Amino acid sequence: MTRKLFWEDPYLSKIETTIKTIDGHRVTVDRTILYPFSGGQERDHGTIGNREVTDVFQQGRELMYVLQNTTGLRVGDILPMHIDWERRYALMRLHFAAELVLEVTLRSCPAIEKIGAHISPDKARIDFLWKENLNARLPGIQTEVNRLIEEDHTILSEYSNVENEQRVWEVPGFARVACGGTHLKRTGEIGRIRLRRDNIGRGKERIEILLDEAFSPRNR
Ligand SMILES: [Zn+2]
Repeated sequence: MTRKLFWEDPYLSKIETTIKTIDGHRVTVDRTILYPFSGGQERDHGTIGNREVTDVFQQGRELMYVLQNTTGLRVGDILPMHIDWERRYALMRLHFAAELVLEVTLRSCPAIEKIGAHISPDKARIDFLWKENLNARLPGIQTEVNRLIEEDHTILSEYSNVENEQRVWEVPGFARVACGGTHLKRTGEIGRIRLRRDNIGRGKERIEILLDEAFSPRNR
């Protein structure tokens, strides 16, 4: 099984990996940092041996990487694996922003039901079953999430079940939530967020989450 370094250290952007199997354009590797589409979060972009990864999907607990080109590759080759770090870090920041927005929203409206989520590098969204217009609650949710970010809490990530590869994140004193994502180390890395509400049909509400780039850790 592929060793999932994206969990052990989500901040790795370049490693060396060994090709384990080759089947047409599909390969498996012994260790990886390239995260697949999962939990609504878009996949990483990257390369293996300078060949573009055009897709990655899970097959059981194995990850299959589809390469643009496998000509000349052999099982046992040790190659550099690289991910687009700017993209991944944006995904990580928006992913954890969405985690905080979800937790705060669930506490603000205990009867609300999450029905979907999507994380892309420029925005995240969470969809809910909820009869009311969420607009009135949005400023309160935004303020509370920005406060949690400002307080720069430690985020712990660990296995809740190693055998089944179940993962959990925890902000001590705030929440402990099951999720197999790649999580930041501190809430402060998110910077600051803005929320927008959208109505996506009868009885459904969407919250869109945007990063305020003026508050990006890079610009501070
Ligand atoms: Zn998560």
